[in-house]
Amino acid sequence: MSAPMIRVEGVSKSFGGLKAVDRCTLEVARGSVTGLIGPNGAGKSTLFNVIAGLIRPTKGRILLDGEDVTGQAPHRLFARGLLRTFQIAHEFSRMTVLENLMVVPPGQTGENLVASWLQGARIRREEAEIRRRAEEVLEILRLGALRHELAGNLSGGQKKLLELGRTMMTDARVVLLDEIGAGVNRTLLGELAGHIERLNRDHGYTFFVIEHDMDLIARLCDPVIVMAEGTVLTSGTMAEIRRNEAVLEAYLGRGAARTAEVGS
Ligand code: ADP
Ligand code: MG
Repeated sequence: MSAPMIRVEGVSKSFGGLKAVDRCTLEVARGSVTGLIGPNGAGKSTLFNVIAGLIRPTKGRILLDGEDVTGQAPHRLFARGLLRTFQIAHEFSRMTVLENLMVVPPGQTGENLVASWLQGARIRREEAEIRRRAEEVLEILRLGALRHELAGNLSGGQKKLLELGRTMMTDARVVLLDEIGAGVNRTLLGELAGHIERLNRDHGYTFFVIEHDMDLIARLCDPVIVMAEGTVLTSGTMAEIRRNEAVLEAYLGRGAARTAEVGS
């Protein structure tokens, strides 16, 4: 039996006296699209940041493909194929869509000046390869017409597509998506979901997805893990989650605003 893609083992993370994540244990199976839901403040984003190496856990371990990677820096995890999408950072908004894709691949020879002097031909080959891949990603995401547009001028939904596109520039094995649907219109959300499905089915990407939009979770995710107060409350298919009284209570207890989404 192969190891799960991600295993979170007894992880806790406190901020001062606040236990944001509290003895949390869960697994993300290889090849799955696993959902992570729970009321605001449940600790979902903190857990993602621990997995992605942005925050060191107070306690516990993170295993990636069976190997202990607890506390490894994000760029090292990135090199191992784990990535977490972020909003397009400010400094990238003045770059074009195409440039945003082309800066992603790590370990380009061109970064090292001596190497670049010695290996000019090889760098040109690498750049051509990266460009070819970027064009392919633009085509898949239907962003081709916007290739020379500054990223800062894209709509919210187009920015999300570009974020997803950036993950497609690497040989990602597992991608963490934190509320990629936030502020995206229904049409684009459907497109994003389609791209996630294809990357999962055709390219073997594993996804771990935090999302408030329960329709999106229901469409994409199996299983769904519910977090509340820093730890796992339950997990199962979306149909099972919907029938679970404790889940409803967790949402109700933290503010009725989100209740309708679980029940719907
Ligand atoms: P979720 O993503 O499920 O909404 P978060 O992981 O963002 O939850 O937050 C969990 C708890 O940890 C919240 O009470 C939040 O206020 C707190 N928290 C998150 N990040 C920090 C931080 N950097 N410093 C202090 N408290 C934090
Ligand atoms: Mg969050």
